[in-house]
Amino acid sequence: MLQGEIQRIIDMGVVTRLNTRVGKDVSVEELEKQFDAVLWTVGCKAGRPLPVPGADAPNCITGVDFLSDFNQKQLHTVPKRVVVVGGGDTSIDVASVARRLGYSFIPSAPDDNASEGAQIGYVAHDVAALGVREGAKVTLTSLFSVEKMTAAKHEIDDALREGVDIQSGVMPLEVIRDASGKATALKMCQCKMDGMRPIPIEGTEYVIETDLVVSAIGQYGDLTQGLEGLNNGRGFIDTDAFYQVKGRKGHFAAGDIIRPHLLTTAIGQASIAADSIDHYLKHDQLVKRPKVDVHHFNLLAKLKEAHLEPEPFKAVGDMRGTSSAKFAVHNYEDRSAMEVIAPVALFLGHFGFTPRLHRQSIHVTAEEVLGHFSERMVGLNPEEAITEAKRCMSCGMCFECDNCVVFCPQAAVVRTPKKEATTGRYVYTDYGRCIGCHICADVCPTGYINMGMGE
Ligand SMILES: Cc1cc2nc3c(=O)[nH]c(=O)nc-3n(C[C@H](O)[C@H](O)[C@H](O)COP(=O)(O)OP(=O)(O)OC[C@H]3O[C@@H](n4cnc5c(N)ncnc54)[C@H](O)[C@@H]3O)c2cc1C
Ligand code: SF4
Ligand code: SF4
Repeated sequence: MLQGEIQRIIDMGVVTRLNTRVGKDVSVEELEKQFDAVLWTVGCKAGRPLPVPGADAPNCITGVDFLSDFNQKQLHTVPKRVVVVGGGDTSIDVASVARRLGYSFIPSAPDDNASEGAQIGYVAHDVAALGVREGAKVTLTSLFSVEKMTAAKHEIDDALREGVDIQSGVMPLEVIRDASGKATALKMCQCKMDGMRPIPIEGTEYVIETDLVVSAIGQYGDLTQGLEGLNNGRGFIDTDAFYQVKGRKGHFAAGDIIRPHLLTTAIGQASIAADSIDHYLKHDQLVKRPKVDVHHFNLLAKLKEAHLEPEPFKAVGDMRGTSSAKFAVHNYEDRSAMEVIAPVALFLGHFGFTPRLHRQSIHVTAEEVLGHFSERMVGLNPEEAITEAKRCMSCGMCFECDNCVVFCPQAAVVRTPKKEATTGRYVYTDYGRCIGCHICADVCPTGYINMGMGE
């Protein structure tokens, strides 16, 4: 799917320059000379280390490094005991991967907590292939209670079922190291939260012995090597509501580099940023964005695409009644752009209840998790996806069901002739025949027809 999307973008004429680190391989100044606008979507690839003494131990790594090594097939096994500090989705991902990888040891030396991986790096015995594999003891610690952890609830449930020990309401105090500098334990204590600030509870200190500490407490952007000027001091880029970089004309930013969140958030922000760039390049003034900032079907754009755009407006004679005027667009708007279509506006008489098709969730137990790398969620197959999409009632849009055409007692609603029809322009009303009986509005399943009361 991703490959298809990338190809679609390239086919639009977008030129790619691969293996190029902006800032280092090409400077910001060079970019500014070559391009009129720059969009920064460099993400947040740097993990925050633990803010406690001893966190620079070689076997104390970040969650993004751990996952990056795993995804690049450089991490095949973990040590016997792993502590993940976090509570968000990244920490759950790390704990889940660690439980799946397990630890390998050579039976003749069962206490050898060997592991390999570019980031872990303190022992690199190639035992992954040779040794016996067993489940690692994986502990996940969170400042917040389990109910308040930011990770998705179903993922927390999965992690618990898969044997991850979640210790909540606790904070790390220190990474305890041995003479060689290697972390051997994490000193913890219970804590109270003051907003986002943990307050240690005295006398509750305890120690979790471990062979690997993974810090999954947040990410920030790698704004080094020539990108320092964009850094707001906290590893992010500051933008305004139009995603323009503050104080840098012609620069825009979107995605995690503004605030780490979700893929859909990044896509939505980039879409608004693209709109802002379009305005910027045309020297248009940027207009205030709507509160619910989403894309709606744009009938005028569609009509233009189909060479059916309305004629230019000309004020002539008596302007009352525009039902046959060629400059006006009648009865064709996307109502959902203006209002929320309430369920009562839908006429569902011809549509039986169709239950939602849920994705199948695979529950893996602690005994089964070792080496279990299949998806936890099974996606819908193409047939199911089409069936699910067909449940959409296109609220506020005409989905071409013909109800209004069939039920109008005056034959006032008719299908638009083929050469004038396009998506969103399927039916039209002859107001000379309409007696205002409301039947068309009553039988419209989507709430598209909404009759005014002459006010
Ligand atoms: C462990 C983890 C799990 C997640 N799980 C989910 C999830 O389940 N669902 C979800 O919706 N989101 C999830 N997210 C968040 C999601 O991955 C991000 O919100 C999304 O990828 C952000 O997109 P982006 O384009 O801003 O940045 P990225 O996807 O990070 O892309 C940034 C790109 O910029 C490139 N780059 C960086 N610096 C430079 C430079 N100087 N020059 C050139 N290129 C550069 C990088 O190589 C990268 O290709 C997860 C994130 C993490 C870390
Ligand atoms: S209000 Fe009645 S007459 Fe007018 S178009 Fe609708 S169904 Fe036909
Ligand atoms: S009843 Fe509504 S959805 Fe059906 S064709 Fe008429 S306007 Fe379109």
